Amino acid sequence: MQFHLNGFQPGDPEILDPAARLPAAPADASFPDIRTCIVEQKPDRLLIGQADGIACRTMEMFHAHGFAERVAREACWINETTFWKPDEKKPGQIARSGRVQDVEDGLSEFPHVVINQARVHDFFLDIMRKSASRMEPFYSRRVQDLQVEPAAGPGEHAVTVRLERIDDAHRGEVETVRARYVVGCDGARSVVRKAIGRELSGDSANHAWGVMDVLAVTDFPDIRYKSLIQSASDGSIIVIPREGGYLVRLYVELTKLDVGERVAGRNITPDDLIAKARRILNPHTLDVKEIAWWSVYEIGQRICDKFDDVGEAEVATRLPSVFIAGDACHTHSPKAGQGMNVSMQDTFNLGWKLAAVLKKRCAPRLLHTYSAERQAIAKELIDFDREWASILASAKGDGADPAKTQDYFVRHGRYTAGTATRYRPSVLTGEAAHQHLAKGFAIGTRFHSAPVIRLSDAMPVHLGHTVKADGRFRIFAFADAGNPAAPGSAIRALCDFLEGSAESPVRRYTPAGEDIDAVIDVRAIFQQGHRDLAIGAMPPLLLPRKGRHGLHDYEKMFCPDLKSGQDIFDMRGIDRARGCMVVVRPDQYVAHVLPLDAYAELAAYFDGFMVQTN
Ligand SMILES: Cc1cc2nc3c(=O)[nH]c(=O)nc-3n(C[C@H](O)[C@H](O)[C@H](O)COP(=O)(O)OP(=O)(O)OC[C@H]3O[C@@H](n4cnc5c(N)ncnc54)[C@H](O)[C@@H]3O)c2cc1C
Repeated sequence: MQFHLNGFQPGDPEILDPAARLPAAPADASFPDIRTCIVEQKPDRLLIGQADGIACRTMEMFHAHGFAERVAREACWINETTFWKPDEKKPGQIARSGRVQDVEDGLSEFPHVVINQARVHDFFLDIMRKSASRMEPFYSRRVQDLQVEPAAGPGEHAVTVRLERIDDAHRGEVETVRARYVVGCDGARSVVRKAIGRELSGDSANHAWGVMDVLAVTDFPDIRYKSLIQSASDGSIIVIPREGGYLVRLYVELTKLDVGERVAGRNITPDDLIAKARRILNPHTLDVKEIAWWSVYEIGQRICDKFDDVGEAEVATRLPSVFIAGDACHTHSPKAGQGMNVSMQDTFNLGWKLAAVLKKRCAPRLLHTYSAERQAIAKELIDFDREWASILASAKGDGADPAKTQDYFVRHGRYTAGTATRYRPSVLTGEAAHQHLAKGFAIGTRFHSAPVIRLSDAMPVHLGHTVKADGRFRIFAFADAGNPAAPGSAIRALCDFLEGSAESPVRRYTPAGEDIDAVIDVRAIFQQGHRDLAIGAMPPLLLPRKGRHGLHDYEKMFCPDLKSGQDIFDMRGIDRARGCMVVVRPDQYVAHVLPLDAYAELAAYFDGFMVQTN
């Protein structure tokens, strides 16, 4: 973590100074100059319940926000998953049929963990509170409706939102907010979605699910493993061990509902869930001592055709100003554990784009890419969820094939870990013409981190952890095998171009007076060991002077971790003879792979969506 750039400041470096508005660490500064208003109908923060699975990819995103370590410490780690099926000799009882490693080796440096959604909210609230804007949600306010002024031009406050206050002291009062952009993260019954005329469509056959977080005594041996259990005639349950070592979540698959039927009409009670869980777990016992939270909810696999307020036919002529994210635009079963994960990835995708447009760094048409990218991902999730649900269902009763279930689970591990997301070529995602230069950084997928050694201080770090949620693009320049300090080296030539040429995206898109890495952050990775290179001989762009004192930033250069045998060039298939550039988006996705001397292609990529500020 870097701080003290603009002067020594005592105290907790994570708490940014609202008065100075000069972030000690730009990486954590969020966007204090953008006024954001979060409204929530609940009277206060979430305390218990709802989703709990945190995929590896989500942990990577949490690291970019600065709280992955806290989650890892507090959460329950899912290391292995077990599978149970009807006992062949006694079909009325279950028997373990398999056990697999939950996440394949090397898929991510972070584990798959489980923690209450309420704690995830707490971590986000905490970083909001520590940010320079000291942001807090406005509780007890319900969105009634919103209207978009069609004639408003770009940059105008085109959206008017009416909020009903629902706390006792202000009940009935209506507040009006005028906004340039509105994001509806208001769940499956989204008012924002309805206001922009979008509908969730998909399966009408809803599934009812019972979920309960319990403290229980049981002789089921895998109660501290994620376990998928299929009984002969009572359906299935999923056991999810929870944080703290004692709590466990049981997902109990209930019944299919009739068209239009609500699960509330079935009057299902916690005792019904416990009774069903006991029948499925037979011959094992389940003595529930306390129910911390329970819910019964219906899930249809549904999706909106578009995640903003611009129809497909108007994309060329209108800009979006209202967006929907999460359950507001896609719903699916909890079987794949994706609801919260995919929803947060939606807003991670959208957040930096909104900030870039509001800060006039990127052209507003960039906002069209949110719906285009995330709708395709949500559609894949729905298809996966449907297939997974049918495999679980077909494994019930006669003809059940639990081996198929286990095989499918293993084959789709990357998907459930959240690392299979791949954005298609677009203005933001390059074509794969030079992919062979870095086979392990697939264009359109998330930047797969690997260990490296920082040149300035021999610190072992993860290269991907330099990508913070700060809205900046990164260019990782992987050097060829030659001496990077030599006058004619490809790295030096690239740095000279980026620092000095009028065509350079770094020069073109960095506002006057801001640090050289304020918009595009250039870092280099050399093939030599860190003791074989002299930091002072490297191009000045890699040792930039920053902040009001013009201090050197020493954290731009890295070497392979040769001592541990983890050479990033081998791990990620980098062409050692030629090296390459890997361009990474602010949301950690690989935007492009280019040769080190592809200056024109690099400039053309950024020219496609950025706005010149100089
Ligand atoms: C009861 C319940 C149980 C769930 N259990 C599981 C589970 O066990 N496993 C799983 O994977 N997923 C579960 N989910 C789904 C999972 O929680 C979601 O996929 C995930 O939370 C999506 O986040 P979201 O922000 O899009 O929606 P939500 O988490 O639903 O959040 C929407 C928020 O908007 C607020 N809101 C709604 N309307 C308005 C309005 N008009 N004005 C102001 N605020 C409004 C709501 O109060 C809520 O806080 C559950 C959802 C619910 C509702």
